[in-house]
Amino acid sequence: MIVMKFGGSSVANRAQIDKVMDIVKGRLDRRPVVICSAHKGMTDALVNSARGAVQRQYALPDVIDLQSEIAANLDCPAELLADHYQEISDLLRGIGLVRELSPRSLDFIASFGERMSVRCIADYFSRQGLKSQAYDVWDLGFITDANFGCARPLEGFNDRAHKAFNQMVPPDVVPIVTGFVGKTPDGDITTVGRNGSDLTATLLGAALGVEEVEIWTDTNGVMTADPSVVPQARNIPTMRFDEAAELARFGGRVLHPSTLLPAMEGGIPVRVLNTNEPEHPGTVI
Ligand code: ASP
Ligand code: MG
Repeated sequence: MIVMKFGGSSVANRAQIDKVMDIVKGRLDRRPVVICSAHKGMTDALVNSARGAVQRQYALPDVIDLQSEIAANLDCPAELLADHYQEISDLLRGIGLVRELSPRSLDFIASFGERMSVRCIADYFSRQGLKSQAYDVWDLGFITDANFGCARPLEGFNDRAHKAFNQMVPPDVVPIVTGFVGKTPDGDITTVGRNGSDLTATLLGAALGVEEVEIWTDTNGVMTADPSVVPQARNIPTMRFDEAAELARFGGRVLHPSTLLPAMEGGIPVRVLNTNEPEHPGTVI
């Protein structure tokens, strides 16, 4: 089994999601567990609309328009996300009425990006002949503390994840799982922190004891510099965990600093790959 995590730019639109589908199809024999971010820009849009609601400036249509445009391009049925849209509008209205945005409410609103993207992607894949199902990661055991904005799974996560996975995921189905989010034992939705889907990937990968965690992004693995700033930036083919962690700590944007810990502890290689150039070997950590 492997974990394959696709970030926001990898699932930005139908063209990108088609690339993701081809990449996943090429790995079916390794039993992929796919973890997805929200579509590019969605989490920012959700957070901004909540901040706007506190000021009584509703940016509600933006968020739902952005998601429904992508869903329509994927030919998803209109009712697929109807409940989520309703909940988002109720929530923003509530935030506007009380003019208060607690860390708990902020996580709740931010969580919708991943919850909606996995449903669209799984629905689309299935109609294209790749049998898939969407999962909210808490249904696979990702129960967290109540540290909103940087929640972490509670003790016993590995066992919970194993049991839930075996119960919930039929062997012939590709699970499409939400990154970034979690849930407390009381049922409050949490997040692990911005850009946290990589961490979801390594935590779930370590819990399930996968062979490898693949982080699919939009650069050829880890580079010697930011390729959008330094055109001569080169790919780094292999790195040790401590080197990669140091790079992340000093501001390398490819990997979130805490991402590597679970993989390091579990001795699971992390490979950083490019959705737009899937044949490139990327970086192995
Ligand atoms: N969607 C979340 C964010 O934009 C998490 C992630 O993409 O990793 O921060
Ligand atoms: Mg990211």
